[in-house]
Amino acid sequence: MTLPPGNQRTTLSFVSRPPISYSPADFGHSPLLVFWELTRACDLVCQHCRACAQPTRHPNELDTATSLKLIDAITLFPKPPMLILTGGDPLKRDDLRQLVKHAVERKLHVALTPSATPLLTLDAVRELQDMGLAGLAMSLDGATAAHHDTFRGVAGSYDRTLSIIQGATAMGMHVQVNTTVTRSNFDQIETMAETLRPLGIGTWSVFFLVPVGRGLATERMSPEAYDLAFAKLWKLAGEMPYRIKTTEAPHYRRFVAQHAPEQAARAVLSVPTNDGRGVMFVSHTGDIYPTGFLPKKCGKFPADSPVDIYQNSPVFTELRDPNRLKGKCGACNFKTVCGGSRARAYAVTRDYLAAEPDCAYIPPGWTPTGPANQRLALTS
Ligand code: SF4
Repeated sequence: MTLPPGNQRTTLSFVSRPPISYSPADFGHSPLLVFWELTRACDLVCQHCRACAQPTRHPNELDTATSLKLIDAITLFPKPPMLILTGGDPLKRDDLRQLVKHAVERKLHVALTPSATPLLTLDAVRELQDMGLAGLAMSLDGATAAHHDTFRGVAGSYDRTLSIIQGATAMGMHVQVNTTVTRSNFDQIETMAETLRPLGIGTWSVFFLVPVGRGLATERMSPEAYDLAFAKLWKLAGEMPYRIKTTEAPHYRRFVAQHAPEQAARAVLSVPTNDGRGVMFVSHTGDIYPTGFLPKKCGKFPADSPVDIYQNSPVFTELRDPNRLKGKCGACNFKTVCGGSRARAYAVTRDYLAAEPDCAYIPPGWTPTGPANQRLALTS
C-alpha cells in the first residue's frame, strides 16, 4: 500500500492548547488524561451511549463539596493531568462553572465534552472560556443531519453541533470533534473529514466502538474493516488541516508503524496511551476505572485516593505491563506501542488482558491454534 506523506499526523493530541508535556516515563505515576463523568444526565439518547445516559441526575452523584475535593485530589499526581469533564452532559450540573473555576485555579488544564442540546450556547462557551476552559470536544457521527440525528436520537443535533463548533473556533477555543465509527457510517469517513475541513478544529478523534452501554454489538466492524478505516484516516491525516487521532483503536499505531515507520517513530508512537496506561476515569458516583469503557472498578472516591489507585491498583499496574498481555497481543512485536484495546478485550471476553478481538494483524510466529496465553518468541 502506498501512502502519501503527512503533515499533521499523530495519534497524540490534546483537546486543548497548550499541550501538556508528558512521556511514557510518566505512565507509572501519573495519567495524562483523567476523564470525570460529572453526571449521567443528558437530554440526548445516543444509540452508542457508554453511560446509558438518563434525563435526570442520579441521587448519588458526587455533590459539590466532594467534587471540589476530587479536583484537589487530582492535583496531587506528580505530573498533574488534563481533566476532561464529561458525561452524560456536564451542562446538566448547575455547579459546572464552579467546578471549572476551581480546577483552573488549581492549575489544571480543563476540557469539556458537552452534549449538543439547548443548554449549550455560545454564551455558555464564552463564559467557560473566560474562566480558563482549555478545550471543547463535540461529537459528530454522520455526514448528514439525518444520519447524525438518528444516531444521537434528537432532531436538530447535527445543525446545533456544527453551529457550536464554528462559533467556538471563531472565538479561539480549541475544538476537538469526536466521531464514533461503526458499520453504518464507515462509508462516510471521507465526507465527514471534508465537512470538518473548513471549521477550524484542532483535532478529529475517531472512536472505534466498544460494545458496552448502548454500544450496539451489531454495529461492530470486522477486524479487516478496521485496517481499511485506518488506511482512510492515515490518508486523510496527510490532507486535512487538523490532527487525526484514534480512540480505543491503538492498533492504528501498528498500522502506521507498518506503513510509514519513519512517521511512526517521530510522531505516532511517542506516548502510546491505553486504558489504564496514561488514562483514568472517575464515574458520576466516584467509582474509579481504567477508562469509561472498561467497567472494572478499582476504587471509589473519596474513600480511595485517585493517585493511589492509579499507581498501585493491580488492575492498573497489569494494564500498564505489556508482558501481561495474552494471546496474540502477548506475542506481538507491536505490543509496547499498541497492546490492543483493553476495553474491547474486556467487553468481548471478560478478560482485560486477552487479545484485542478486532485486530487483523498476525504477529510473526503466531499460530491462532495455540493456547490462549501463548507467548511465542518473536522471529523479527
Ligand atoms: S495483535 Fe494486539 S498488540 Fe499486535 S497489533 Fe494487534 S492489537 Fe496490537
